[in-house]
Amino acid sequence: MSSSTHSKSNQSSLDNGDPNRAVARLLVKLLNTCGHCHSGVQGHEFALIATWIVTKEIDNALVKFFEATKEHQWPKLREFQNWRGRSDNLEAYAIRCPGQNLSVAIIKTHFELLQGARLLYSEALSTEEGDKLLSPFQVFGGSRSERTWFSQQTTVL
Ligand SMILES: [Zn+2]
Repeated sequence: MSSSTHSKSNQSSLDNGDPNRAVARLLVKLLNTCGHCHSGVQGHEFALIATWIVTKEIDNALVKFFEATKEHQWPKLREFQNWRGRSDNLEAYAIRCPGQNLSVAIIKTHFELLQGARLLYSEALSTEEGDKLLSPFQVFGGSRSERTWFSQQTTVL
């Protein structure tokens, strides 16, 4: 099933001035279905958790990036905030189902080539893990009423 790959003629004009729309389209394409509701991810919200530059050299940080994701070490994952437009990047996203459950996904983007991006990891989180991921991080002295980092950055797919 590759029905949506033909209509790329006007994609760049659609994305003018709004990189979030480009990312949203990319996530819709890569994720395909939500691990919670098992339908398409359109209408779900997403926010960037972490990014890291991928270089040609061996970088132990990349291993730690995956470890932090798979082991649900969210504050540690949030420490990865290193992005450069003219390189490949690992990007970790939180995706929220309308039913409020969260998933995480790691994609690798290729410098200025959204079509070349690949989904490397995705996981539907339990409600408990999702809550931990959403909670304000103590680094920022978060109180209960504080808006989470997620709600500050969220975009609808
Ligand atoms: Zn869903």
